Amino acid sequence: MIELKGLTKVYGKGRNTATALSQLDLSIRKGEIFGVIGHSGAGKSTLIRCINLLERPTQGEVWVDGVELTKLSRGQLQAQRRKIGMIFQHFNLLSSATVYDNIAFPLRLISTSRAAIDSKVNELLTLVGLEEHKDKYPAQLSGGQKQRVGVARALASDPDVLLCDEATSALDPQTTDSILRLLLDINKRFHLTIVLITHEMHVIQSICDRVAVIHGGGIVEQGDVAKVFLKPQHEITREFIRSETQNDGPLRAAIDAPHPESSQAVKITFLGQKTYESTLSHVVKETGVIFAILQGTISTIKDVPYGQLIVRFEGSAEAIRETIGKLTAQGLDVEVLD
Ligand code: ADP
Repeated sequence: MIELKGLTKVYGKGRNTATALSQLDLSIRKGEIFGVIGHSGAGKSTLIRCINLLERPTQGEVWVDGVELTKLSRGQLQAQRRKIGMIFQHFNLLSSATVYDNIAFPLRLISTSRAAIDSKVNELLTLVGLEEHKDKYPAQLSGGQKQRVGVARALASDPDVLLCDEATSALDPQTTDSILRLLLDINKRFHLTIVLITHEMHVIQSICDRVAVIHGGGIVEQGDVAKVFLKPQHEITREFIRSETQNDGPLRAAIDAPHPESSQAVKITFLGQKTYESTLSHVVKETGVIFAILQGTISTIKDVPYGQLIVRFEGSAEAIRETIGKLTAQGLDVEVLD
């Protein structure tokens, strides 16, 4: 659906240049919710703005639905852009227009009939739950309501792709969740491809199918969210995940604490239905190993349950080895911690 090939963006000229993206390749599938996570300055905004050419890449190709956008004339590009909606961190609404008129705006630009506009805007107002607010001005709305107007406006021209530029970063956690649920709902309902950029792992974990981690203008890691989240390979990814979990200091101390028995700290990862099964207690019953729980999480990635437990097994070296072997044979991932 979206292919970025060798994307490079250099801002400025002469000595004052900044390379925001460097030879970046990325492939996004039709109908998926794809997240790009990175720290401030990593190149996220530049990347997402290159997808609809709000920012023109210095080099590289931008393919959306089989069309290479950088090669198009101005008129052709305008037509293609109608298939790509966008929402923004600070909503970018017209302050002097009502909710209704903000949503109608893109339709008026393409000379849609009054009746068609009315029908479409009312349908969108229902979709985002703002029917009662249609005559209000943006200043009279909460942040979450403003973003709902942004979503409705972005959907007015029936796009195939929705770009979300830090769309929940200005919202409180509860409102963030309601906007994320709305995005998930429209993704499912219209099979809309959604690309979002964020600096919050929580946003990725809640609604994305796949994720790319961007750092210094390049992708350092990408894949299914569960894989990247549960088995991060790059230090930057680990940092994002750590920032979402507990303080690691006491855990480290517990792992390192001297222990009289023969023991081994391990991290056990459960994914899907296995999260709720009693595999661990069956296995330790068989091997006679006992364990202390040092840290534990049971949560979901999108709709998929997962669990991650850090435990210290206590028993003979042989029994601990057997325990790890049996857990692995049952399909759990066991990482031995130093
Ligand atoms: P992010 O969205 O991850 O914070 P950006 O894409 O905004 O990152 O920026 C990537 C890099 O490009 C940063 O070093 C930033 O300073 C630089 N940059 C972004 N926009 C401009 C611009 N208009 N002019 C010059 N440098 C820019």
